[in-house]
Formats: sequence, structure tokens, C-alpha cells
Amino acid sequence: MSIHIEDLTVRFKNGVTAINHANLNIPNGIFGLLGENGAGKTTLMRVLTTVLKPTSGTVTLDRILYSEGNYEKIQRKIGYLPQEIDLYPNLTVQECLEYMGDLAGVPKAECKKRIEYYLKKTSLAEHRKKKMKQLSGGMKRRVGLVQALLNEPEFLIVDEPTTGLDPEERIRIRNLLVDFSENRTVLFSTHVVEDLAATCNQLAIMHKGSFLYAGSMKNLTEEAQGKIWICKVPDERKAREVEQKYRITSKQYVEGGLQLRVISEIQPELECMSIPATLEDAYIYVTNQYE
Ligand code: ADP
Ligand code: MG
Repeated sequence: MSIHIEDLTVRFKNGVTAINHANLNIPNGIFGLLGENGAGKTTLMRVLTTVLKPTSGTVTLDRILYSEGNYEKIQRKIGYLPQEIDLYPNLTVQECLEYMGDLAGVPKAECKKRIEYYLKKTSLAEHRKKKMKQLSGGMKRRVGLVQALLNEPEFLIVDEPTTGLDPEERIRIRNLLVDFSENRTVLFSTHVVEDLAATCNQLAIMHKGSFLYAGSMKNLTEEAQGKIWICKVPDERKAREVEQKYRITSKQYVEGGLQLRVISEIQPELECMSIPATLEDAYIYVTNQYE
């Protein structure tokens, strides 16, 4: 399953352009969508799930064009975890999932089996009898994820699935998504770089409604290679001087002064060394270029 987005624009009634003439190909496997708050991730996902109709541009899913006559066919192929979820507060976790599975047309016996399986995978099994309104935000999101997985969709869209989870849960959910992505397509949005470093080979960086980068993780970090430097300066005053000239992404006190992480196309005239770029560096480098 692959998705092609061509010249996509979404402008809201209030005049905000959330997506601005964007192009993107989403291949098979797990694909990361990285961007700060307000970048346009949720808007893109809502378009892909057919919840939101774009202002202009085209989207195709395995060559099926997003158009009135095809929406139902497309929806059947998609599982969606929205960023904000509010599932039936008075139903228990089990009841809620059975009901949602039924709505999605999953046969009853099969649905129960899948609920069992995914509740275990998300460490929710012992909470199945709790009412939805008794759950924490992080738990609700995990129930939302199980719900999105129930029809075992060919294309899974998960909007910030790791938000509000503790580190251990975060890792479990990442692993679940990676496992699920085998022979399928998973679009995984996050504003946490680390989430993607641990899961995806391919990603897009979204910024103010455009894609600044789309491609492999490896190419991205290579792009930032030799442009991130660690420099040492003796004191705060010197650090401020450097700051006026270069973009500093971190500052750390070390023996005999301060260590700065500096973005520069060429080696700064300071005591410094180039370091292998991490995804975090690459992300900062790419978005920095745009500013
Ligand atoms: P992200 O998910 O990356 O945080 P969003 O897609 O939610 O970004 O938002 C992108 C931009 O569109 C923001 O400026 C946001 O305020 C705006 N926006 C999102 N939804 C609406 C809406 N329904 N009406 C008006 N503006 C919106
Ligand atoms: Mg969002």
C-alpha cells in the first residue's frame, strides 16, 4: 500500500493555511511524520482518513483517488488513532472495543480474539472491566490504538500515539507499531525525534504546512553531517558572542568552560570538532535552514 500526495493545500475558514502545496509519497512500512506543534501533522492525517476534504490537490491510495465515490472503499482500508480521543465514557474498555469492532464490521468471534491479543500487547488486559471515564489519558490513547487495530487495516494512521505514555509504555507501543507495519503501511506522527529514530527508516519533516524533507533516516543524518560541531568556550560571555554568529542548539557546563553544540556549514573558528549527526541534530539543521 502506498500513498501519493500531490500539490495538497488545506486552508481553513479562519484563513489559516495548515498545508501549503505539499507533495509526499508514503511507501510501504512504517513512515514517520515529524514536526513541532502546529506543523500540520494532524490536518494531513485527517485528510488521509477522509475526515477532512482538502482545499485543493490530489491524494491517491494504491491508485484509488480520494473522491466522493471512493471514500467508503478507502475508509475500509484505514485504521486511525486520532490525536484527541473521547470514546464512550460509560462503557467498559471491553464493551467499548466490542462495540467499535462491530461498527468496523469485524465478525464477533474474530473481534474478541483480536481484542484479547491487542489488550495484552498494550498492557491493558487487567483494565478491561474499567469504565472508559476511569482511565488516564495515556490509557485512553492505548484503547484508541487497539480500536484502530481491530480491523487489521492495510493503512494505519496514528497521531502522536506515544504522547502521555511513560518511557516503558512508549517502547512497547513503538514495538507494536513496528511489528504491525510488516506488509502494511503505518504513518506515525510525533514531535519526539527519538520515537522515530527507534522505529522508522523513512520519514518526512513537516514545518509550517510544508515538507522540508522526505526520505530515509540515513540520508537525512548524512545531510547534516559536517554541519554540527561541538565547541568549547571559556565562559558565558564568549558563549553569547558565539550565539550571535551561529545557531547554538545546546549548552552544557564542562570542566574549564562551556560546551556548545553549534550549527554551521563550515568549521567555526573555535576549538571544536565535528560530530556524527544524530536524527535530532539533522532535524534541527533542516528546520533551521528554513527559518
Ligand atoms: P500539528 O498536528 O502538527 O500540531 P495541526 O494540523 O493540528 O498541526 O495544525 C496546523 C495549523 O492549522 C495550526 O496553525 C492550527 O492552529 C491550524 N488548525 C488546525 N485545525 C484547524 C481548524 N479546524 N480550524 C482552523 N485552524 C485549524
Ligand atoms: Mg497534531
